[in-house]
Amino acid sequence: MPNFTNPQTFPTFAELPPSSTPSPPTPSWFLLAQIKENMTITKPTLVVRDRSGTDFAVTFDDGDHHGLDGSDGTKLRFRKGHTLVVPRAARTDRGEGKKALVRVSEGRGREVRVLPASLERVVGLGALVDEEEEGGGEKKKGCAACGKEGEVEGEGERKLMRCTGCGVVAYCSKECQVRGWNEMGHKADCKVLKGIREIWP
Ligand SMILES: [Zn+2]
Ligand SMILES: [Zn+2]
Repeated sequence: MPNFTNPQTFPTFAELPPSSTPSPPTPSWFLLAQIKENMTITKPTLVVRDRSGTDFAVTFDDGDHHGLDGSDGTKLRFRKGHTLVVPRAARTDRGEGKKALVRVSEGRGREVRVLPASLERVVGLGALVDEEEEGGGEKKKGCAACGKEGEVEGEGERKLMRCTGCGVVAYCSKECQVRGWNEMGHKADCKVLKGIREIWP
């Protein structure tokens, strides 16, 4: 599902609907933006950058100076350089001389997620998930480390093992899995892929 370059589903800040328009009951679009700064004093407040390079503030009616409660009951970590995901985000225009911002209204804070990677990386990994889902019917793909072709859930020599963390990439052997995890950076990507699949199942 996640085609992060689709402007209907993943609008930039400028493309967001104004907050005066009624919000739909279910999220059909998502704002993706990289966290630049955490400016929280009394309520969670972030400065973020979207993929067009526009910087703007995101404020939350939920939470306090400690932060925001995440969907799993733990505090959401607003790390600089990570990517904020705000379902059905709207743009609040505040009149002349004041910059527009995204205000996440009361009760909506728990819809917000943070993916532990830069926006560019998230977009790249989103494409990987997309590819995986499209080719999913055939169960045919290559080892994510050496490229050797095989079949996921297949038999014998051509069998590839799917990563149990993210379920997206697959490997031909234990050695390739270890190499993918350590040398090729899947250790970091795996969490992001898992997060992407949780948000957009
Ligand atoms: Zn391999
Ligand atoms: Zn994985």
